[in-house]
Amino acid sequence: MSAEQDRHFLQHALRLAREAQESGSSPVGAVLVGPDGKVIAEGQNRTGEKFGPERVGGASLAHAEMDAFFRAGKLEDPETLTLYTSLEPCLMCGGGSALLQVGRIVWATDDAWGGSGRLIAWDEHQAMKDTVTTATPFADLEHDGALLFAPEAKKSFPAEGWALWQKRYPQETAGLEDVKGKGE
Ligand SMILES: [Zn+2]
Repeated sequence: MSAEQDRHFLQHALRLAREAQESGSSPVGAVLVGPDGKVIAEGQNRTGEKFGPERVGGASLAHAEMDAFFRAGKLEDPETLTLYTSLEPCLMCGGGSALLQVGRIVWATDDAWGGSGRLIAWDEHQAMKDTVTTATPFADLEHDGALLFAPEAKKSFPAEGWALWQKRYPQETAGLEDVKGKGE
């Protein structure tokens, strides 16, 4: 997959993240892409939407990557597929990608709190060592993704998690200090 294609599909994932936000869910999007550049499935966070037979929703596992996997159905030659996400996958979605043997994961923006990388070394973990990861390949898209998710990080993460976000993305989290989080 060329850098141009990586950029294209990360922008696609960011677009889905904005759609998720407009639907009342967390702003995260994902696209599963074949080796020929064909979109296998789109996914978006659906924690704020109803669960239905056609998709995962309404629960804390309704992450964008899970949505894409449920919609894709049975994967053919999963090792040839690339999962693009607007935000670094969590342990559930990273683990799911590994169990499905997805060949590569690319994300626009790191998740300093919820991302797998805080807890495990992607390339060293036994379950994930066959999945190649590419983190934040484009500074401008990383910036866009951080700006988009920062309010959600402030709202949903504990103080410790928000502090990690502020440290990782000082520019993108600046100005959110006055935003009241849930339960505060
Ligand atoms: Zn996840």
